Amino acid sequence: MRKIFYMICLCAQLLFSRTIFAQVDQLPKIAKWYNNYDCAISLRFDDNDESHVNFVIPLLNKYGFKATFMINPGRNYEKHKDFWESQVPQMGHRWGNHTWHHKGAKNPEEAEYEIGEVSKLIWKLYPNENKLNVFASGGGEEWGGKRWSEALPIYKEIVKKYHLIDLYDGKHPAISLNSDYPLQGIKDKIDKAISEKNHQAFMFHKVGSKNLMDYARKIIAGYNYTIEEEKFLKMIEYLNNKRDRIWVAPLVQILKYQSEYETSKLELVKKSPDKIAMRLKIETDLNLYDQELTLVLPTPHNRTPVKVIQNATELKVFQLTDSKYISNIKPINSEVQILY
Ligand SMILES: [Zn+2]
Repeated sequence: MRKIFYMICLCAQLLFSRTIFAQVDQLPKIAKWYNNYDCAISLRFDDNDESHVNFVIPLLNKYGFKATFMINPGRNYEKHKDFWESQVPQMGHRWGNHTWHHKGAKNPEEAEYEIGEVSKLIWKLYPNENKLNVFASGGGEEWGGKRWSEALPIYKEIVKKYHLIDLYDGKHPAISLNSDYPLQGIKDKIDKAISEKNHQAFMFHKVGSKNLMDYARKIIAGYNYTIEEEKFLKMIEYLNNKRDRIWVAPLVQILKYQSEYETSKLELVKKSPDKIAMRLKIETDLNLYDQELTLVLPTPHNRTPVKVIQNATELKVFQLTDSKYISNIKPINSEVQILY
């Protein structure tokens, strides 16, 4: 008797939870990451090293992965100036602001030059992108005699003025990879990003074998800035094997999506068998935050979404799997209708 009672309870519970699940599932929602990928991975390369030109970028291009390059136009630059300025933007990789000379600044006027001139150059090289970008102070550099983290607000104001996201504001963790970091550890971090649906940022300096300078730096600075080509290649292959689940994209794109996602809300306006109308409320400014958001479309009673209309614009519906449909919408306050 008791057994039967438990069985009934269990069945009721199952039915109840399934009903709730089905109801929630019947409304569109904003995907955590673009194109409904499970996670985001960013690859950042600092200091325009020769190895980026000769090895990293050709390899990334082979796999179609887009990355972020933190470039100093005033240091170690002239030899590949044309490559960095003409070819890299064409290839779809993004520049980040890493200051002009990688030497910090003695005063705010110097900082204005070191930061501002790089932003102006980036805006010129990417005429179709808006002004938002990422900024990283050169490691160990001083601003008015202080490390970046302790620098006076006047320095941070310059970063804000140029619409830069400060990667060293304590809110943007990244793993710096070098030859001391085991390949399995890198793979584990990638898998963790997938299972936790997070963004994992990786950063690199030189990719190649260590030379005398690298050994000297390790002894003096105590830090190893070089990762082997072989390990880097294996990492890229690992990402490629899981590329259906990972959004590999430039930092600025991922950070845009993240801010838009975190400040947006979808509210139900009206629902009928052949139409769901929602209102998208979002706090970000389209002038800077213009990354498309992905809407996951429900399939109530197994009906197929055929059209999405945002305000007056008709948008495409993409089928990801048998029952998974998405559409990419503009990050603006708007009415979104899904037609079946
Ligand atoms: Zn640097």
